[in-house]
Formats: sequence, C-alpha cells, structure tokens
Amino acid sequence: MKLGTIEEEAARCRKAFEGVEVGALVWHCHHDRLIEVLSEPAENRIEYILTYKPEDERALRLRLFRPVRHKFRSWVKIHAAWLKAHAKLRRADAALWEEYAEWEKAVAEWEEADREEIAIAHAEECPDCPWDGKTIFPPTATTTSLATLIMNVIE
Ligand SMILES: [Zn+2]
Repeated sequence: MKLGTIEEEAARCRKAFEGVEVGALVWHCHHDRLIEVLSEPAENRIEYILTYKPEDERALRLRLFRPVRHKFRSWVKIHAAWLKAHAKLRRADAALWEEYAEWEKAVAEWEEADREEIAIAHAEECPDCPWDGKTIFPPTATTTSLATLIMNVIE
C-alpha cells in the first residue's frame, strides 16, 4: 500500500468523514479492530492519532480509518437501538456529573462551615502534622532555622 504523507492522509481521512455522524460503522478505528461503531466524532480520533500515535503509524492509521459505505441490511435494527442506547448514556453521564458536582460543592461548603471543628479534630488526631494550612510540605525546619541563623548573624 502506497501511503501519502501524514498531512495528505489526514486530509483524505477528514474528507472521507465529512457528514458522517456518531453511530456510523467505521473501518479500523483502532489497529486491532476491523469494524466498529463510531462512538464520538471522527475528528476526535483523527486528532488522537495525529497527537498520540507513533509517527510511523499515523499515515497508515489515517488511511485505513474510514466510514463503512456498505449498507448492511442486518445492521439497521441494531443501529437504531445503538443510537438510542448511546443517547441514554450521554444523558446519564451528564446527570451523573451534575450530581457529583453538587456533592463536591456540598463538601466544600461543609469544610468552610466547620473549619474550627475540623482544625480541633485535626490537631487531636494528627499530632506533629507539618500541615501549614496549604501543604504537608511547608518550607523545612532546616530552611527556617538557617534563615533565623542568617538573620541573627546580620543583626
Ligand atoms: Zn495532618
């Protein structure tokens, strides 16, 4: 198989996928698969190949990643069901993220409201903790005492 440059193959691949939507059947979306359903826009995969795949694999991957043109009679029913399932997944996913974000917010609000009690509990349960309110890796004692020493010398 004679391949063009990566840029040429990318351009051809993009052209081939014009107007092709999620849910379409595609050839060789991944190197170890013959045929798959496109689960996100083809451009995402093209970008991924151009960014993350080894340079010497890119042209071939882009050449072989193509929408399936053949209309499989047996595919029609599965396709419709797939689209439905995919839409449901997207909705569920969005709802899940919303719910999660709300809980994150609730935790942050609780932390703010109960700051004093948290500080007391922390002091009790985590003795000799280096936590300085921002990090458990504050400037070291050596650095501090060295600074003090220098200050003393200067003074
Ligand atoms: Zn601690």
